Amino acid sequence: MSAKLKRNILNTPESVEILVEKSVNGDLLKMQNEESSFHKENTENFSIEHSQLNVSKNLLENTSPYSASLLNAIRDPVFTINLNGVIIDLNQATLDLTERTRDELLNSHFFNCFSDISNTKLLLIKLFKEGKILDALLNLNNIQLSPVLFNGSVYKDEKGNVIGALIVARDITERKIFEKELTEAREYAEKASIIAEEAQKHAESLTIMAENAVKAKQQFLSNMSHEIRTPMNAIIGFTKVVLKTDLTEKQKEYLSAIKVSGDALIVLINDILDLAKVDAGKMLFEKIPFKLKASISSMVHLFETKIQEKNLQLKVEYDDEMPSVLLGDPVRLHQIILNLVSNAVKFTNSGQIFISVKKIEDYETSIQVEFVVKDTGIGIAKEQLSTIFSNFQQATSSTSRLYGGSGLGLSIVKQLIEQQGGEVNVISEIGKGATFSYTMNFDKTTSKVADDTDLFESDEEKMNIKVLVVEDIPLNQLLMKTLLDDFGFERDIAANGKIAIEKLKSKPYDVILMDLQMPEMNGFEATSYIRDVMELKIPIIALTADVTTVDLEKCVAVGMDDYISKPVNEKLLNSKILTLVKKDREFNVKIIDQPKLDSQKCIDLSYLNKLTKSNSELMLEMINLYLHQTPTLISEMKKSFNEKNWVNLHKVVHKLIPSFSIVGIHKDFEAMAQKIQEFALLEEQLESVSKMVAQVETVCNQACIELNNEADKIKKMKK
Ligand code: ADP
Repeated sequence: MSAKLKRNILNTPESVEILVEKSVNGDLLKMQNEESSFHKENTENFSIEHSQLNVSKNLLENTSPYSASLLNAIRDPVFTINLNGVIIDLNQATLDLTERTRDELLNSHFFNCFSDISNTKLLLIKLFKEGKILDALLNLNNIQLSPVLFNGSVYKDEKGNVIGALIVARDITERKIFEKELTEAREYAEKASIIAEEAQKHAESLTIMAENAVKAKQQFLSNMSHEIRTPMNAIIGFTKVVLKTDLTEKQKEYLSAIKVSGDALIVLINDILDLAKVDAGKMLFEKIPFKLKASISSMVHLFETKIQEKNLQLKVEYDDEMPSVLLGDPVRLHQIILNLVSNAVKFTNSGQIFISVKKIEDYETSIQVEFVVKDTGIGIAKEQLSTIFSNFQQATSSTSRLYGGSGLGLSIVKQLIEQQGGEVNVISEIGKGATFSYTMNFDKTTSKVADDTDLFESDEEKMNIKVLVVEDIPLNQLLMKTLLDDFGFERDIAANGKIAIEKLKSKPYDVILMDLQMPEMNGFEATSYIRDVMELKIPIIALTADVTTVDLEKCVAVGMDDYISKPVNEKLLNSKILTLVKKDREFNVKIIDQPKLDSQKCIDLSYLNKLTKSNSELMLEMINLYLHQTPTLISEMKKSFNEKNWVNLHKVVHKLIPSFSIVGIHKDFEAMAQKIQEFALLEEQLESVSKMVAQVETVCNQACIELNNEADKIKKMKK
């Protein structure tokens, strides 16, 4: 930049015209390149003594009143400066914002109005160089250091020479405040989201902790249940056994008291476990055919004595329009009714207990049933109605003292009903009794209900049953022995799965009672071995003390036929043993007494036809193979059986079995051959096995005759 130009811009009043001329001629453009060095050298010098100023008064004098009022009407500060950067005019907004008087500002240097003088000087240079400047940020030199947006534009005389600039400094204090608030809000939001993220992480870790706590609770309940139920099982069981012996009245009284307490304790343990089970979603609901009316009557029957003792009246209304057999879970239904009726009896001292069961909807495949249990007892306060269904909740703190109970019954009732898709309600008032009602759907069915009681009463005597008890705890072993002796069954005890397997190899049994948790080999492993390796079909009933963790599906998966929970209900145990043994024997009898050979053909070649795609060559080949090997296998089977060569008998029958399905011999004979194998493992030459060997021989001989005929036919057709 030329020295002259610098001088002009900075402080040479007499050179205003030259400067304008120069800037118009483009000399100012050079400043662009030299700006930074200029900045360093001269910004300090861009100051002019007031006295030195020689401002052109023309503009001021020429400002018309109209222009002046126009300027004053503008709410942003407006300055007019000359080429030296000296203020030659301003408006009212400028005075207001700078908090100075007109006299103070007029003829002073523009940049003195701003806090950052050097930056202002640079902006002025830029303004004169480029002709305008837009939205440059500066701070006024007032107390608040008001932020302004500096917008300027040069103005020219009639000849087009730049003679000064008009500058508008828009006060953006509010915008700045707003921006600041916005930034703060954004920062706050960011912080808040960080806090929220942390809170979420914390919540997640709390959830994991809570889940672990629930699992720990489950595990604890499961372990405790096992620990408590095992000795309780023995206490109750033996008390029952001793109660059946000759006792004095006093002894009977004491033992009955022990039994009542034991029963109460088991109810409580079962309640807690049930709750844990429903909480964990592990409650399984059956859908089996059952008689609703009989179920209700047997439940009501349980309370008759108590109701008589309390001098209450009992009224039961049953809707006979309902199908007699329905599909559902009778055990859980009992549990619900038992809880509601037991509460009604417990909390009623005079008046009536009313039970009603009626159909309220009849759908195509199901019905909706409403159960009502109404009493005239102490009633429940309105404010307690919503809480009595929660765990461990009783209407008043004195309830437990006066009436006993744990406050778990209703919460289990609610869960059992809701998990089966039903709904429970209560209406009550203090002193006016309570009405509990619930609805539930049951599927219709055409199935019949097996009547266990007949078995228990009539067949027991006639059946000579051998039971293998697999149980490790000596007390339970003793209890089982006592119960089975009482039933008149033969029994052996094995302390674990391994011993049980050894026993099974040496003696035939009719049924196995299998504990699940045992040392050496547990119940699941033993059952798998019996089913898969030994290939025995003997009925197996699981004995389970721990209803929470027992995976009933697992019992079924390994091949168990049924389960019974401890403490064992003797009647139920007896009935389960009898049912399974009877079924098994019926099957054996059926397959032994199945000649079916005189009238019908015993072979069916449709499978062979399909297998060979009706290729006569292939069919002949297969038939000849059968005709060739079968007589030898049959005579070997007979020989092995007669000579008690059990290993060979098993082997021969094993070879024989696959041919049954190829030539279409009835499935029952295949099952019979499998039975022979099972008995071969047991090494017993029983009458029934001899019958089966004879049956298999007959059917195979018959098959050979028929196959010979078939072979002839095929040969003829080929010719
Ligand atoms: P529990 O009977 O073992 O205390 P429940 O869960 O069965 O526990 O019942 C919870 C509470 O509800 C009872 O303690 C009692 O206060 C109240 N309750 C239940 N049934 C009745 C009833 N039929 N009459 C009056 N109060 C009842």
